[in-house]
Amino acid sequence: MSTPEDDQTVEAEPAVAGATADAVRAGRPANGTPLLEVRGVTVHHGQLRALDHISLRVFAGEVYAIIGANGAGKSTLLRTIAGLHQPTEGSVLFDGKNMTRTRPERRATQGMVMVPEGRRLFPSLTVEENLKVGATHARKGQWTIERVYDMFAWMKERRTQLTAQLSGGEQQSVAIGRALVANPRMLLLDELSLGLAPVVVQRIYGMLPQILATGLTVLLVEQDVSQALRVASHIQCLLEGRTTLEGHPSDVTAEQVEAAYFGLGAAGAGGARGVPGPYRGAGSPSVRGGMPGGRPPGDTEPPGGAGSEPLCSGSTPSSRGC
Ligand code: ATP
Repeated sequence: MSTPEDDQTVEAEPAVAGATADAVRAGRPANGTPLLEVRGVTVHHGQLRALDHISLRVFAGEVYAIIGANGAGKSTLLRTIAGLHQPTEGSVLFDGKNMTRTRPERRATQGMVMVPEGRRLFPSLTVEENLKVGATHARKGQWTIERVYDMFAWMKERRTQLTAQLSGGEQQSVAIGRALVANPRMLLLDELSLGLAPVVVQRIYGMLPQILATGLTVLLVEQDVSQALRVASHIQCLLEGRTTLEGHPSDVTAEQVEAAYFGLGAAGAGGARGVPGPYRGAGSPSVRGGMPGGRPPGDTEPPGGAGSEPLCSGSTPSSRGC
């Protein structure tokens, strides 16, 4: 007997079969079921309409980036997908199943696992204890604590250290490891770069190829647009809870991204889908040069010594420098 909490299959088509990251990067599948589909989602925080009819489709193997300024609704969208906010309208489908009313923990066991903004580790637990928390209701799969130690070479020898004593970058790595040991199908990454020095951000994002090589799909939220454009196979820009631009990073110009990010006028052209809005913003940052977004002035790696340490290494060297 099904309940509203149960998953409901609403699509008959099979999921995209055998789609690899490279194939997806080369061009989005024209048909097939997306691994994740958000259909016309509206979310309110009290009287505030934080998301206004947002839709997206993420296919297996993609790195899909949601970009936008402070307050655009990025985290609200990710948290809604994870089940932490209930939409007032619209639906969330995962692998063809309607998950809109599915509890967050059930979404996680179905394969949607989030690395939350600010890491949210247990500071009084050790590195390994935090990883064990992530493995508690793990799906079957190739990610184990040992495999995480393989990827982050520093982690094994410091596995008995409290996470409160780690640097921001190290904590972020543990948070990623904690998500991986749950063996997700899709990783939801919320602002990995927040509060971290650029070199640390580069190292952490340098892990993505290794993670994707194990068959994962990634949906990330990022204020650092340059970073998002570097790693994503598809981007979607939000502004005040609405989509202002979406497309393949190579199909969008810096000017379009800037316009979409700040609401400076019609953003779309070429292969990108611009969504004109009534927005008129301010500012004229350089997108390719490191803005818009990034971190607040003076925001750096917290003390703790990780800034100069390698955050990754291991048995499967990545092509991105780790
Ligand atoms: P940031 O990068 O600053 O986190 P964001 O794009 O992730 O921004 P959200 O955090 O999703 O944006 O916030 C969207 C809007 O909803 C903002 O106006 C924010 O103040 C508001 N908001 C977010 N969470 C809540 C909440 N729990 N209660 C009330 N308002 C909220």
